[in-house]
Formats: sequence, C-alpha cells, structure tokens
Amino acid sequence: MPVESIFHRLEALLPKVQKPIQYVGGELNSTVKDWDSADVRWALMYPDAYEVGLPNQGVAILYEILNELPGTLAERTYAVWPDLEALMRAEGVPQFTVDAHRPVRAFDVLGVSFSTELGYTNLLTALDLAGIPLRAADRGEEDPIVLAGGHAAFNPEPIADFLDAAVLGDGEQISIAISEVIREWKGEGSPGGRDELLMRLAESGGVYVPKFYDVEYHPDGRIKRVAPNRADVPWRVHKHTVMDLDEWPYPKKPLVPLAETVHERFSVEIFRGCTRGCRFCQAGMITRPVRERSITTIGAMVENGIKESGFNEVGLLSLSSADHSEIGEVAKGLADRYEGTNTSLSLPSTRVDAFNIDLANEFSRNGRRSGLTFAPEGGSERMRKVINKMVTEEDLIRTVSTAYSQGWRQVKLYFMCGLPTEQDEDVLGIADLAKKVIQAGREATGSRDIRCTVSIGGFVPKPHTPFQWAGQADHETVDRRLKALRDSLRGDKNYGRAIGFRYHDGKPSIVEGLLSRGDRRVGAVIKAVWEDGGRFDGWSEHFSYERWMSAAEKAGVDVDWYTTREREENEVLPWDHLDAGLDREWLWQDWQEAVTGGEVEDCRWTPCYDCGVCPTMGTEIQIGPTGRKLLPLTVV
Ligand code: SF4
Repeated sequence: MPVESIFHRLEALLPKVQKPIQYVGGELNSTVKDWDSADVRWALMYPDAYEVGLPNQGVAILYEILNELPGTLAERTYAVWPDLEALMRAEGVPQFTVDAHRPVRAFDVLGVSFSTELGYTNLLTALDLAGIPLRAADRGEEDPIVLAGGHAAFNPEPIADFLDAAVLGDGEQISIAISEVIREWKGEGSPGGRDELLMRLAESGGVYVPKFYDVEYHPDGRIKRVAPNRADVPWRVHKHTVMDLDEWPYPKKPLVPLAETVHERFSVEIFRGCTRGCRFCQAGMITRPVRERSITTIGAMVENGIKESGFNEVGLLSLSSADHSEIGEVAKGLADRYEGTNTSLSLPSTRVDAFNIDLANEFSRNGRRSGLTFAPEGGSERMRKVINKMVTEEDLIRTVSTAYSQGWRQVKLYFMCGLPTEQDEDVLGIADLAKKVIQAGREATGSRDIRCTVSIGGFVPKPHTPFQWAGQADHETVDRRLKALRDSLRGDKNYGRAIGFRYHDGKPSIVEGLLSRGDRRVGAVIKAVWEDGGRFDGWSEHFSYERWMSAAEKAGVDVDWYTTREREENEVLPWDHLDAGLDREWLWQDWQEAVTGGEVEDCRWTPCYDCGVCPTMGTEIQIGPTGRKLLPLTVV
C-alpha cells in the first residue's frame, strides 16, 4: 500500500515558520523511490536542524548506498525547529521525511546518526512527533526499529531505553546486511514479530540490542555486570570496519542543499582512522586503524563530485588530512587541475609543521589566503605530553613564522581547557604561546598587522579513550581558568588587540560529560529534560544548564558522580560490552603513562604497539604511497 505524502498538510504551516525551505526537499541529487518498489524502507535522521544535518557525510553516504540497493529505499528526516514543532503538534502533522514527506512511522527503520550526545533530546522530539512510543519497550509491530549509529553510539547506554538497536563503526556494509535481515524476515511473513527481528539482528553479532542485555549494579551505584539475557546473543558487540575505502567511493551524487547550510562544498574523505594517539580524541581511537583512500580514487571522486553537484569548493576530509601518505601529490595534482577555474580546495589544517604550510599554499592557489588553523590543544609542553600531542613550542613558532612570512595573516590556534592533571599555569601558558606567535609573525613580516585567534573548547572525557577513567574538571574550575586567561590576554597592551579569544563557559561540557559516560540511569534525566522543553541542546541559545541539573536532581542522578569522579581500573564501565577493538589493558596503561608524561608514537610510521585493534578486528593499517598519479583527467 502506498504511503501518502503529508506535504499538503505541512504546506499550510510553512508560511508561519522560519526558514520554511529547509522542510521542502527536492534538492539536486535527492531521491524519491516508489514506495511499493521497496520492501525495506529506511528513514535516516540527523538529529539537528537541516542546516547542520544536510552536510553530514555519514547520512549522505548511507542514503546513497541504501537507495542503490534494489528493493530498498531511504529518505531523510531532520529535527524540526520549535516553531514548526508547535504547529505540527497543534495540527497533528507527524514527523516527516524531506524527500517524499512520508510519515516516519511508516518506515521499517529509523536510523539516527549521532555525532554528539547533545542531539539526544531531538531524538525524543522526533519519536514523539512521529507517534512512535519513546520507550522501546512500549513499541509495537507497526513501529519502526529505532537504530542509532555515529560516534555517540559507542556508548548508547544513556539512550538505551529509547533505542531498539545500535551499530558501532562504519555503516556501509552493516546497513546493507541489516536490510537483508529485514527483507528475509518480512519475506517469511514477519515471524515472531519485532522481537524475533531484533533477535536475528542481535545474533548476527554486529548489532547491539540493549533490551537483550541486563545491567546489575553494586549498592554504591557502580555497575556490577552487563550480561546478555538471552542465549545466542554475544557478550560483546563489535564495531564494523570498512577495509577498502576505494570500493566505497561515496558520495557519488552529493546532495546540494536548497537552504543555507554550515558547509557548502563537496567533501571527500581521504582516509578513515587516525593512529596519532591523542589521548583525548575519541574519534581517533574508535576509528582505528588508518585506511587511506588511494590517490586515483580521490582524484576521480573530486572530478565526479564537482560534475554531479556544481559545488565550487572541495574539502579533503579526515581526522588529520595532512597525514595522507600522498597528500603532497594530491594537493599539487588538484591545484594544477583546477588552476584558473572557479573551484577552490580546502584542507582542514591542524598539523603543526612547515609541510602543512606548503599544502595550504597549494590549496590556496585558486583562492584567498585567509586563515590557517593549528591545534596544539595544550598550553604547556607538560600538558601536551599528557595528551600525547607531540608539538613543541619551537615547532609551533617555526611553523607560524613560515605561515606569516608566506603571506598568511590570520592564524587560529585551538586548545582545550579542563584536561587531566591541568593546573592554572598550563592554561595561562596559552597566553604566553599566543603572544610569542604574534611576536614571531611581526618579526617574520616586519608588520604589526598580524592576528591570531585563540579558540578554547572544554575537555570532556570520552568512552574508549585512555581518559575514560579520568575525573572531568568541574565547570567552576574551567571558568576560573578561562577568566584568568582572558584577563592575561586582554590586559596586555602590546599584544591584546592582536589576539582574538573565543571560548564557551564550562557548563555545557558537564552535560556532555554526563551523557558521554552515562549509563542507563541517565535516560531518566534526558527524558525529564525533554519533557521540560529541552531541545537543540547543542545550540547555546537553546541550552539550559539549569534545566539539566534540575532534571538530574529529580531523577536522583548525581551529576558529579558521573562527571568529576575518577574511575578505578577495575570498575565496569557502561560501554565495556561494546567493542571498539581497543585493548582495555592498553588503554589503562596509556592512561597511566599520560599522568607521567609518557609518549606514544604513530603506528603508521613506527612498529605496532599493540593497542589491540588490528588483531581483534582482523584489520590492518592501510597506507600508501601507491606511487600512482592523480591523472587521468577527463573534465577540467
Ligand atoms: S594494533 Fe598496532 S598497528 Fe593496529 S592500530 Fe593498534 S598499534 Fe596500530
């Protein structure tokens, strides 16, 4: 039976809301398949506004892959702004997809990609608007399977009550495998209802179904154990790793937004994973090992993506793009190819060395020499050793001098505050460093027209990292240190005006910390916050710390216990049954070495130090150089 579009009902509401265009769909390269042509149907959600969600690579890739599968269709849905939410509630309009404006509840799967935990309340809004019971236990045969993915899914416990399932790691292959399980089950007449479907998914070992695991607690609140409550369900669920990125050259047909979005460019992921070993970086840890896309595939994807989308900016993405083994060739080849055209290239630059400046020079051949970003992360040498960010002050000064002398006028430096073992002087060290950067720029150019922006983020300890046991700094400490830093920067007549300072207060990091390392008991807080009007918690204008703290108090959840408390080695962590491949002993040892300033090299260039990922996951580091060329070219 075809499912009717709700667009005629939505259309009447659109003149009354902000940015109505974000809800209409019809973007270049969007796909609407005939409902009856498919027997497996996915609604893919990015739980934030369209302007943030549309450029998300994970959703875009799965959208294409699933729509290419015969008998499968995928449509997109995003979080609606509170103005439209109110009207939808008043008029009884359900959560819809932007592609064919079909009600989300009619789909087999609602797949939600969480880049950050601050999207959890938006999940609840979408479920509620869709008419899907919030709690998985209350769902029936007519409701979709609510499935989480993305980095936050590596600890989905705080939203376990609201999820039917979660998937860890790369989604390309597992989304196809899940579609096949659903197809087979539906083809057999849906035996055993959704319980059996979930069981089939759980038995595969690649899908985590929270309801098949019971959590027991010690009297003091720590977890005693997490154990399967059904036979045939694995004790640990493993992450998925795509080993040959060249086999998955997506997006092939990039979505071109109708409304303004945070990134308007064609992005090519040039490698996945990172083995630099920064101890705070969850993305680096959970995406190991490094798998490079080859220079020829990158060249072909750029060429095809521009042709299919008309974008005039190409971003080469990864966790540390300058580390691709053939990035020099890629940069030169693409800069040559697009020289004189209106296509510009960008590379998120974070590596602190002269090579990075050479790359930036290549990439800016066709565009403006605007700003360069470096991420020393820690303000003092000691702090940088603790986080395993091997950048010396000398490296940084040498690099920025080169940048300024080659015509770059704006340098952005990214740091974190609240890192483990951090003292006041480590944060004040940021001011000294910034002043030295300006001084170096003035000396290199002979000009006083030099700018540097210091941007500071609050550190949040994340699951599956060596800092997963660390006590998070309380927000008062973070705010006090940031205020002292601001005073030190602004109070300096010689440098103050040359240094911009961007930071957030420490409160949102505490909520993020609660959600990152929370367990199932934190779900009650999320629900209470949502009931109290919590929406778009990643947006400072919507975020309310007081709302979160009052909900935690009502739910009997001690926020400090989840955030500022340091964990013992043997404490069962809420995500211990979810396997990112990292050896727990290695993580603990690395945490101990962090405290004593021990450094770990990058296993791309040095021997394996047994973090555990490759043997556990059956993977390996995959890097070049391939020695191949970016050519041939067909279109310039
Ligand atoms: S197992 Fe060895 S080679 Fe593989 S990511 Fe870990 S340290 Fe690197």
